[in-house]
Amino acid sequence: MENLYNIAKDLITWYQKNARILPWRENISPYGVWISEIMLQQTRVEAVKKYYIRFMEELPTIKELSEVSDEKLLKLWQGLGYYNRAKNLKKAAIEVMEQYHGVIPNSYEKLLQLKGIGEYTAGAICSIAFGLPESAVDGNVLRVMTRLYAYEKDIMDKQVKKEFSIAIKEVLKHTNPSLFNQSIMELGAMVCLPNGTPKCNECPLQKYCKAYHQNRVMEFPHKSPKKQRRIEYRTMFFIMCQNKLALHKRPETGLLSNLWELPNGLKEISPFEQLLQWGVRYATIDEMGKTKHIFTHIQWNMEGYYIQTDSFENCADFVWVTQCELQQKYALPSAFSVYVKKGFEMFNK
Ligand code: SF4
Repeated sequence: MENLYNIAKDLITWYQKNARILPWRENISPYGVWISEIMLQQTRVEAVKKYYIRFMEELPTIKELSEVSDEKLLKLWQGLGYYNRAKNLKKAAIEVMEQYHGVIPNSYEKLLQLKGIGEYTAGAICSIAFGLPESAVDGNVLRVMTRLYAYEKDIMDKQVKKEFSIAIKEVLKHTNPSLFNQSIMELGAMVCLPNGTPKCNECPLQKYCKAYHQNRVMEFPHKSPKKQRRIEYRTMFFIMCQNKLALHKRPETGLLSNLWELPNGLKEISPFEQLLQWGVRYATIDEMGKTKHIFTHIQWNMEGYYIQTDSFENCADFVWVTQCELQQKYALPSAFSVYVKKGFEMFNK
């Protein structure tokens, strides 16, 4: 790709003057890059900062991550979503302990073998932490590159990513891989923004940018439409008994696997029938309103009920926890947070 070496030079100069101060950029380490990159998948930088700092305080080494209890790990992750990322971090930490004596390998191929580490994360760790010439192409980088080159192919086509990876890797052999990869990510995050708002007038690459000169910035990247999400209608229950809240553990596989949840079911049966099936004899039942939660492939349209009951005998596989225990020990995915908040407001009235 023409000019990519000059582009890299200008980009790095801009980055050195404009890079944001972020916790994972201070004292760069392979462990820190790995944790931050996993957290940053699907989550905004601003939201990740406080999670990253707390995570590194609680689990500052691979050894501690490999030995942490699942409950504590998920509690540290609570609110970030996509909990498989946290579970895979621990599995990979165990692999690093067993196979590499607790030292993250400085090899792209070996990193790719670890649980939860894909091409992008392996490239980011190799380049940012070890200074190796490996590319790290994510959605931000694809957006910048397709605009720079007015690149017409669909970015959902895996070949496109491959093509950019090869081109970037070639340039990385002649420049600073850590700075280049960080600078192009930073440009995508701060200047070459998605959704109609790129700040082309502040862009250090404007003179190279074909999309800008052709006045076609908003046409890139080309992307085939996503599949429609499946919609599920669910009834959520905030069930209190003797000052304790009912929680249920989700199945070991599938969506939000092995995490705690408010008891809930598909809206095929009425709330009354559902409670009867669980053996909950309620004293009062109040509506908590409707809300929705969007996952990658599914959308939950939810309707909530606040239940006060006197006895929890026969309520199969629920655990009963106080508000304090819930806050300290149990990680509940954010899909339930609206009803947890509202439920405790109703309870504490
Ligand atoms: Fe992106 Fe605009 Fe810069 Fe081109 S000039 S790379 S479209 S911000």
